[in-house]
Amino acid sequence: MENKKSDFSSWYNEIIDISGLSDKRYPIKGMNVWLPYGLKAMKSIDNIIREHVDNSGFQEVQFPVLITRDQLSIEFEHVKGFENEVYWVTRGGMEPLDVEMALRPTSEAAMYGMFQLWVRAHTDLPLKIYQIVSVYRYETKHTRTFIRIREIHFFEAHTAHTDYASAERQMEEYRRIWNEISSELCLPFIVDQRPDWDKFPGAMYTLAFDTAMPGGRSLQIGTIHQYGENFSKNYGIEYLKEDGTHSFVSQTTFGLSERLLAAIIGIHGDDTGLIFPPSIAPVQVIIVPIPSEGADTDGYAVRVKEYLSAAGFRAQIDSRDNYTPGFKFNEWEMKGVPLRIEVGGREVHDSTVTLRLRTGGSRIKCNLTDVASEVSKALSSVKEILRKRASDHFEKSMVDGDTIEKIKNGESMFRFYWCGSRECSDHLEADTGKTVLGMQREMNSTGRCIICGKEGKLATASTPY
Ligand code: ZN
Repeated sequence: MENKKSDFSSWYNEIIDISGLSDKRYPIKGMNVWLPYGLKAMKSIDNIIREHVDNSGFQEVQFPVLITRDQLSIEFEHVKGFENEVYWVTRGGMEPLDVEMALRPTSEAAMYGMFQLWVRAHTDLPLKIYQIVSVYRYETKHTRTFIRIREIHFFEAHTAHTDYASAERQMEEYRRIWNEISSELCLPFIVDQRPDWDKFPGAMYTLAFDTAMPGGRSLQIGTIHQYGENFSKNYGIEYLKEDGTHSFVSQTTFGLSERLLAAIIGIHGDDTGLIFPPSIAPVQVIIVPIPSEGADTDGYAVRVKEYLSAAGFRAQIDSRDNYTPGFKFNEWEMKGVPLRIEVGGREVHDSTVTLRLRTGGSRIKCNLTDVASEVSKALSSVKEILRKRASDHFEKSMVDGDTIEKIKNGESMFRFYWCGSRECSDHLEADTGKTVLGMQREMNSTGRCIICGKEGKLATASTPY
């Protein structure tokens, strides 16, 4: 296998192929086939997202994939230039359509016409919905699996509130939900407020969650947007207030995508292959029987699996008899299964099992009757180790950019002081080739702008995917 550190890009492409996550050979560029193993991982991520938004009072919906040009045009008042990134449907059978339609690039235009019908009075608010669907972008840049593609597996939450203060509280709730999701996935991040020229078109402001991929490039893995009344005014989403007057709703959105899987692959994997956080691993425990004279290791493996399945773990036995145990160990390590259980003659004789964590360390032996609780402990350790490794990597990837030279020559993300002006951002980008991702939202420290010397705040620059 390719070396992750010396050639991350090749490693990334290779591991996606050989672990069976996705097949890139589909004849449309940027539209790949989700293979069973990859789809299971993605569905597990979806379920973690669902659990957290459902618990916060969101309801799941599903809107049609087609949006009329008229619906989109309302949004296009904000979204100039977006039109070039949309797939247009212009014919039904052989007949040209009266109204051209777009494959949804995102669903503001699809949803807000319906919001206008649904929202009548303050008692209908807040309205909190989400969907997990494919969205489409006519991507002309170089495509990369799970990172830059034309059919995107997408989570989008949309809300409507009585006023801006309530929408701001929603933004805080998104942050809490995101903290929980990212913690489950063991993904560190920084919150960057995108510069005005780089925020979502139509948003008052955009907060992005940026993480560091191996090799130093950043990856945006989530965004939340405050729309205020910008969309509700265009789509006419008004409600009757208690005092009998009408008011426009304030709105927010929260978007996540299969880039979460890209981050998990890139950040947690190693030269042996993938490492899945236990919460999303399609197989959490692989049980490998080691044939032994006079011991029924296959039958014993079934008993081990029964204990684990009863406790709710996703366990599987590799009973293929045309492969050696060593081959099986390597294959499941490559596929990122967080925990392996070996059962040989000695285990059968002693009524024990032997555990081996994908993250390394020595083997752990326990009694068969304790296997569920030991597995639970072992999976928690894997999660902790991944979280620690990922945050160490992130800290190393976020370097102090105290001089232009350093930012120019370094392959990492940089924190630096910036006054917030477009001029200084353009200047920095021209001098260093890095992109200004925005002000670091959580950091309050102030210093001199690296370009103009005026008072600035901590900002992030990097080469984003
Ligand atoms: Zn400046």
